[in-house]
Amino acid sequence: MPPEHMRAIVIEEPGGPLVERTVPTPVPGPGDALLQVGACAVDRFDLAIRRGVRERVGTLPHILGHEISGTVAALGPGATGPEPGTRVASSLYLVCGSCRWCRRGRETICERFGGHVGVDIPGGYAEYVVVPARNLVPIPDPIGFPEASVIANAIGTPYHALVVRMGLGPGWRVVVTGAGGGVGLHAVQIGAMVGASVMAVDIGSTKLDLARDLGAEVAVDPTVTDLGAAIVEWTGGRGADGVLELVGPATMQATLPGLAKGGRMVIVGSHSGSEWSIDPGDIYRNEWEIRGSRNVTVDELATVVDLVASGRIRPMVAGTHPFSAVEELHRRVADGEVVGRDVLVPDDPGVG
Ligand SMILES: [Zn+2]
Repeated sequence: MPPEHMRAIVIEEPGGPLVERTVPTPVPGPGDALLQVGACAVDRFDLAIRRGVRERVGTLPHILGHEISGTVAALGPGATGPEPGTRVASSLYLVCGSCRWCRRGRETICERFGGHVGVDIPGGYAEYVVVPARNLVPIPDPIGFPEASVIANAIGTPYHALVVRMGLGPGWRVVVTGAGGGVGLHAVQIGAMVGASVMAVDIGSTKLDLARDLGAEVAVDPTVTDLGAAIVEWTGGRGADGVLELVGPATMQATLPGLAKGGRMVIVGSHSGSEWSIDPGDIYRNEWEIRGSRNVTVDELATVVDLVASGRIRPMVAGTHPFSAVEELHRRVADGEVVGRDVLVPDDPGVG
């Protein structure tokens, strides 16, 4: 039986400090599972929720954390999912499972989208967390909890974007912007895995060297090299077959003109701004396809788990840290110091 109380890191006011508290262990409702948290990765999204917490979160204090792995501790009434004792990774979207899109395998655009674990319901900066049982994917023993915690978001997101939404295949030339980030480093690996040639775009030699090590054919720092010209040169003037945009308008001004005729741009993030202008004539004359992509389905996640288990994708865990380090981890994310993902683990592993 889970204990009546647990340790959790909570926010008690918007933008306020992250403080460790002892709180009641949550009880799984119908269709839910209670997880004993094995690890919870820290992501830039956590910082945004922390700043604007009152607008997104119904009740304070709130527990952050949406990239979660753990062990099923209990199932709620009527829940069908992995049995208690099963090690799992957890998807972070709250979807209905029965609307027209969920029924077509496109739960990422669920008509009754309920938000995110760690935003709209309490998250994984805690010893226990309640999530929908349908969100869980079992993980085999070779995958540790820290590695499993980054699967749903940092690996699942680029898998869905590149493999499902872009249809990336062997021989393609694909540009990945923000390639040195937590999502980008896995996008580079997925691109190389499917046999595409990858141009990694990011700022700073550390991230670009790592992107090369993970399979990028070329790596470009747009603050040093003209990105548009680099794409033209790399593709022999033809343009890239695909562009994965993880940055937004700041790089799209250069990457869109670098798209080949018939090319596909998939937009996953736009943290560099929300305004972007484009000549519609460029789209139809080139028969460009510009698509959005968000997160990953639970079915796809099962495939991603297999790819990680077989060693074809390496989860980029920067380090594992105890609860007491959480403020430092948020600072590191805010300052762009993390290569991959820093991960919180409830049991202090004594690793800095
Ligand atoms: Zn739905």
